[in-house]
Amino acid sequence: MIQEHQIRILPEQAANEQSIKLFISKDKGIDARAIKAIRVLKRSIDARQRTIYVNLKIRLYINEIPHDEEFVRTIYKNVEGKPQVIVVGAGPGGLFAALRLIELGLRPVVVERGMNVRERKVDIARISREHKVDPESNYSFGEGGAGAYSDGKLYTRSKKRGNVDKILNVFCQHGASTSILVDAHPHIGTDKLPRVIENMRNTILECGGEVHFETRMDALIIEKEKVVGIETNTGKTFQGPVILATGHSARDVYRWLYNNGVQLEAKGIAVGVRLEHPSHLIDQIQYHNRNGRGKYLPAAEYSFVTQVDGRGVYSFCMCPGGFVVPAASGPHQIVVNGMSPSNRGGKWSNSGMVVELRPEDLQHTDFKSMIGENDAHPLAMMHLQEALEAACWQQGNMRQTAPSQRMVDFTRKKLSYDLPASSYSPGLVSSPLHFWMPNFISDRLSKGFQQFGRSSHGFLTNEACMIGMETRTSAPVRIVRDNETLQHVTISGLFPCGEGAGYAGGIVSAGIDGERCADAVAQYFGISL
Ligand SMILES: Cc1cc2nc3c(=O)[nH]c(=O)nc-3n(C[C@H](O)[C@H](O)[C@H](O)COP(=O)(O)OP(=O)(O)OC[C@H]3O[C@@H](n4cnc5c(N)ncnc54)[C@H](O)[C@@H]3O)c2cc1C
Repeated sequence: MIQEHQIRILPEQAANEQSIKLFISKDKGIDARAIKAIRVLKRSIDARQRTIYVNLKIRLYINEIPHDEEFVRTIYKNVEGKPQVIVVGAGPGGLFAALRLIELGLRPVVVERGMNVRERKVDIARISREHKVDPESNYSFGEGGAGAYSDGKLYTRSKKRGNVDKILNVFCQHGASTSILVDAHPHIGTDKLPRVIENMRNTILECGGEVHFETRMDALIIEKEKVVGIETNTGKTFQGPVILATGHSARDVYRWLYNNGVQLEAKGIAVGVRLEHPSHLIDQIQYHNRNGRGKYLPAAEYSFVTQVDGRGVYSFCMCPGGFVVPAASGPHQIVVNGMSPSNRGGKWSNSGMVVELRPEDLQHTDFKSMIGENDAHPLAMMHLQEALEAACWQQGNMRQTAPSQRMVDFTRKKLSYDLPASSYSPGLVSSPLHFWMPNFISDRLSKGFQQFGRSSHGFLTNEACMIGMETRTSAPVRIVRDNETLQHVTISGLFPCGEGAGYAGGIVSAGIDGERCADAVAQYFGISL
């Protein structure tokens, strides 16, 4: 017999299967010897009150053994000799598009400018060690895309549960822990992601698809308003319709599209800093306990959001027990981001703390001085990102050492005489962020921090430092596509996809958009779904 129950228990009772079994047998009056297996279906932590509870939805197998797999397996067909589709970019958008194409009987040819996910690691390490950023292989470019050396947080605001579950199940099929199907805030961890990405690539290859690394798309081949293929830096051309999943850091792609008359529009982004606290402090605050998280709770998360002077100020991509990383995609820029390993065991916890910017904000004098008069240019928001990243580079002594300021010092407009220890491995340099960041951003951030400090005692502290700057929260441009066909509005055979096209924000939503684009390509070939 199978039974499902919703239970609310203490963290130590939820720590392992045996203690859950003991609890449930007592609570429900079931003989513990009859419970042959327990499967946790959903898990969330309720830390709103002083006593912390774990909410579990569990399935009990009473006098029977589970035979079903813990995830739903997708069948991938052999697609040798089938019509070819070019997928530009092997980030989550491109990889999920390629896998879905195979499901639909089409042959993906994936073209990726960076290295495979293992070799990429070497270039990423050089950024911290030698302060050198390879423009083709970094935190943004290479197999797995920006998602590869990330936190691998897999929650999304998408309400389409079926689409989200499909992405999570495909990750499990390729080696991710099935805990991602259970946890309210699932994450894979930067240490586990590369293996999963390699397995996804192997599925593509085993089914007859192609994956080309160190192959950059330099131009689309457009004939009579229709994309028929791509040109690459290796001299090779590839024929077929194109799923363009190049991410938000491929500025050369945006420039090529603009210069070749492909319609684009400016899009709002959010800009700010990474804020880093000691993780024990966040644990103390969030778990209301001087002793922190104890033995049974994970590193604590937080989420803040407010409105300041008409714009959203919020925490973004929180990484408990993680690292702040140098995420520039080219020389002469500093960009910061965050990631965490699967055990979230690091000494610090960080998040992006950002201010919403809308295209019309570029008319503000603060920004005009950075991007010039042409604030209505479709790439104007990207020009602002570039200007901010270059300013950071200057402040960071023209290395990857990032400008930083203690949190309270920032709100008091005071230079920090020293800085706390930090996870940011290229190093920090004390800098008056309140002074050189555009006021439009720094004023709102400062007011936001003060509000967050009032609502969460201990959060506004000089033990925390801000690290500049977080500029790549989403694409600064939308590559405009038709809502129905998902093709570009004026050019057929071109399927703008994922975060770079302005249709996703995060790993799961990029994966969902990749699948949607693959479905749209199948319809383009007349395949009914
Ligand atoms: C450090 C870090 C941590 C993050 N943490 C998380 C997280 O925990 N959870 C989350 O949901 N999101 C996270 N993100 C964001 C997430 O990674 C992105 O939202 C997601 O990767 C977007 O997917 P995408 O496929 O649309 O684009 P991308 O992942 O950016 O992939 C684009 C790919 O296209 C390739 N490319 C670009 N131009 C060309 C060209 N001309 N020719 C060939 N190939 C090209 C690039 O090399 C890249 O591999 C993080 C990002 C970073 C940088």
